[in-house]
Amino acid sequence: MQLRNIAIIAHVDHGKTTLVDRLLQQSGAFRENQRVAERVMDSNDLERERGITILAKATSVVWKDTRINIVDTPGHADFGGEVERILNMVDGAIVLVDAAEGPMPQTKFVVGKALKIGLRPIVAINKVDKPDARPDEVVNEVFDLFAALDATDEQLDFPILYGSAKEGWMATSPVAPAAQSDRSMAPLFDLVLSHVAPPAVEDGPFRLLGTILEANPYLGRIITGRITSGTLRPNQAIKVLARDGSLVEHGRVSRILAFRGIERTAIDLAEAGDIVAIAGLSRGTVADTFCDPAVETPLIAQPIDPPTVSMT
Ligand code: GDP
Repeated sequence: MQLRNIAIIAHVDHGKTTLVDRLLQQSGAFRENQRVAERVMDSNDLERERGITILAKATSVVWKDTRINIVDTPGHADFGGEVERILNMVDGAIVLVDAAEGPMPQTKFVVGKALKIGLRPIVAINKVDKPDARPDEVVNEVFDLFAALDATDEQLDFPILYGSAKEGWMATSPVAPAAQSDRSMAPLFDLVLSHVAPPAVEDGPFRLLGTILEANPYLGRIITGRITSGTLRPNQAIKVLARDGSLVEHGRVSRILAFRGIERTAIDLAEAGDIVAIAGLSRGTVADTFCDPAVETPLIAQPIDPPTVSMT
């Protein structure tokens, strides 16, 4: 199956949860008679019941034989490089903006990071059904924000969709398509497939950069990341390298979890490009490299002692 990895960047209340609910409903992730009863990205209750906490905040939908992994981004600045690591797992982003409020300063940090690492975001202007919506002005504000953040010409030439996540549609114009049957998320799905590149896959043995860490009462330590190269199967022997290349631990993968709709499902084979969660290691953490025992270089290399600057 083809793959796309994207992030959603939005200010709180601009409609991220509603959008992902609609994408799930309209994609092949669910059987027809199955309702999306959950508020996907911001409710952990169902997962808590099952002993799986979706702190990773990722979900996936299937559209035209392509699996789209959708990763949530923290909506604010952080100090641990978490935002960069999360954005480094993906090849595209949807910047979702409320058509009345416009872009909010709190999302500036995340948008800035996305632009800096070279992502070319799709801009989705949401809530155009609101009486005070001003979609054209908001597009200009997004353009100004991108320009102020030193976006390249290519990034400034962002594709734009308008719509109402609440009403379940996106379109190339802010006016709702006249026919009810034309109101759907299809334009957004299609744009993700055409605008976002499939994940770059490198040659070589299994490597994954630890990106999100969670503690699970049943499975123990779970680390989520994107597989840079190679494949992974349950019970495979792997090791963990710190950023300075030192060995953190040797171990085995007890369980590989893939994102399937709002759930995480144990799988028997994970391939390069996919974003998965792995259990079984006891010390590896974020920014560590989880890899085949033969690998010697970490994915993020950083000397343990930065060179000191002499003042004289
Ligand atoms: P999040 O905080 O970004 O996840 O935002 P939510 O999806 O929880 O939405 C915040 C509020 O905006 C909720 O009350 C939604 O029902 C509402 N909302 C979301 N999308 C739309 C939309 O397209 N139009 C309108 N009018 N309201 C929306």
